Amino acid sequence: MDYLNSSSPNYYKLKQRKLDRDEKRAEETYRKNKSQISIPEICDLDRKVNSLCMVVEALSELLEEHGISKELIERKVEEIDLRDGVLDGQNIPISSCRKCKRKTKSQRPICMYCGGKVIAT
Ligand SMILES: [Zn+2]
Repeated sequence: MDYLNSSSPNYYKLKQRKLDRDEKRAEETYRKNKSQISIPEICDLDRKVNSLCMVVEALSELLEEHGISKELIERKVEEIDLRDGVLDGQNIPISSCRKCKRKTKSQRPICMYCGGKVIAT
């Protein structure tokens, strides 16, 4: 994960520039792929991800200050990652589409391939 150093005097300026770049990239991707996700939705997700990264960074620093090593945190992340049976950086249960039968880890209630209803398996 790409962390900016929060002690840097240009931290917030650099972070805003990164957000602007990410927003521009999301717009380009949207235009190219005619995504079903709108630009405001992508920007909202981007803000949420950035906010979560900040929370994770804070928790990680606090844990380290209290003697819990990064290695121990990484082992715990791996343990949680494997709870869905796959070491892939996610812990999302697999669902399948009633209509086309495709399996997905998406949490959307509608299949992105055919528009059918997705149910937990
Ligand atoms: Zn489907």
